[in-house]
Amino acid sequence: MAQRVLVVEDEEDIAFPLVRTLEREGYDVSWVDSGERALADLNGVAADVVILDLGLPDMDGLEVCRRARESGFGGAIMICTTRAAELDRVVGLDYGADDYLAKPFGLAELQARVRALLRRTNTGFAQVAAEDPNGLRIDVAARRVYAGQQEVPLTGKEFEVLNILASHRDKVVSRGRLMADVWDENWYGSTKTLDVTIGRLRQKLESVGVTDKVVAVRGVGFRLEAGQVEAGA
Ligand code: CA
Repeated sequence: MAQRVLVVEDEEDIAFPLVRTLEREGYDVSWVDSGERALADLNGVAADVVILDLGLPDMDGLEVCRRARESGFGGAIMICTTRAAELDRVVGLDYGADDYLAKPFGLAELQARVRALLRRTNTGFAQVAAEDPNGLRIDVAARRVYAGQQEVPLTGKEFEVLNILASHRDKVVSRGRLMADVWDENWYGSTKTLDVTIGRLRQKLESVGVTDKVVAVRGVGFRLEAGQVEAGA
């Protein structure tokens, strides 16, 4: 199945060549011109990559990014903006975007970045599931998790934590990022809730024989990695 790219851009002059280029690359491309339509689209079919303009007519692109993550969107998000100062703000604050591109950008660069994002975020699951009968498979649209054919029953928070860790597989996700994305962006309280959730998540994954592990990185956060890495080391 072709990988799906959602282009969120209100200017036709920018959107058209972008969509055409991505379609030529073989992606299944959708285009929307507002934040509300983007969020509606992401609720329906899960995109693998979202190319997100910040200056949308109805809302700030960052708001789209935040809300998409809040509702469990686990695909990659690339933010595009003309405003250099805006880009600094985006990079400085963590809204859950994976990459940033300053406009105007070359189409070749865009293609390369989309390919890199797809390598980083999506291919992991399909490969792991194919190679390992107990590999994790996450159906983001349905918000369900499977170990092989068996479903792992997770609570909403457990699912969100796992989904964030899985979309940054083998990378550390900070405690702050997890707290902000899963609980509340203005969370200043104890992170004990996070530890409890991680503990339960680990138990559930282990109980169905998932080999992937949620590893704590002291003082920083957590990382989802393949269990075989430890065994083979
Ligand atoms: Ca715009």
